[in-house]
Amino acid sequence: MEPTHRTRVKRLHERGAYDLATIEAILDEALICHVGFVHEDQPYVIPTIHARLGDNLYLHGSPASRMLRSIRDQPICVTVTLLDGLVLARSHFHSSMNYRSVVALGTGREVTDPEEKMTAFEAVVEHVARGQWDTARRPTEKELKATSIIAMELSEASAKIRTGDPEDDEEDYELEVWAGVIPVTIGFGSPLDDSRLSPGIEPPTHATSYRR
Ligand SMILES: Cc1cc2nc3c(=O)[nH]c(=O)nc-3n(C[C@H](O)[C@H](O)[C@H](O)COP(=O)(O)OP(=O)(O)OC[C@H]3O[C@@H](n4cnc5c(N)ncnc54)[C@H](O)[C@@H]3O)c2cc1C
Repeated sequence: MEPTHRTRVKRLHERGAYDLATIEAILDEALICHVGFVHEDQPYVIPTIHARLGDNLYLHGSPASRMLRSIRDQPICVTVTLLDGLVLARSHFHSSMNYRSVVALGTGREVTDPEEKMTAFEAVVEHVARGQWDTARRPTEKELKATSIIAMELSEASAKIRTGDPEDDEEDYELEVWAGVIPVTIGFGSPLDDSRLSPGIEPPTHATSYRR
């Protein structure tokens, strides 16, 4: 994807990436996104689940959701962040974080076609836990009607990635100060049975060995 004047990374531009594979990988790994929109002259940034399917990013929720109602045919900004490390430098000025993030700009499109709605629903479920769509009950027509789905085409987006060591000033490498990276990972524990789980039902493997 070509950067536009709105998505070209300016500060530390060498950390910017615009290839679709990089952008898609970050969107797919991130469990949630933050959706920025303006409602009655007030900007809001709301955390929510997303899913990517091809060139579309899908958001879902209640038809009563102000966010979902506000972003129909309106400009939105979707941001995801994966935190990979805390970068402790020899100086505070050069301390930083390792991360992979995406900022995507677009327009919300309400999904009304029942087939696309069901596909998007599946994408959201599978985004959270791959394998779950075939495990739990599928949405009824009524439940589908009670779910609002908004799509945003992925056509204007950037990734920004920082990796590696601190980048200290040359003279600071002499300082007797520890410098390095504290890796950050997201952890998933062993599944906890629902208190009303019927006896004899084991968690599926996508729950017992969940990973992203
Ligand atoms: C991890 C995560 C996943 C979520 N996934 C979804 C999803 O897939 N679909 C969905 O519809 N919603 C999701 N939510 C909830 C979402 O953030 C909003 O709370 C929800 O969309 C509320 O919409 P609303 O129109 O009722 O609220 P609004 O009318 O938009 O909110 C009114 C006010 O409530 C406050 N508020 C609303 N949400 C939050 C919040 N999350 N944290 C703190 N204050 C808040 C704000 O001050 C806001 O201005 C998720 C939240 C989290 C944290």
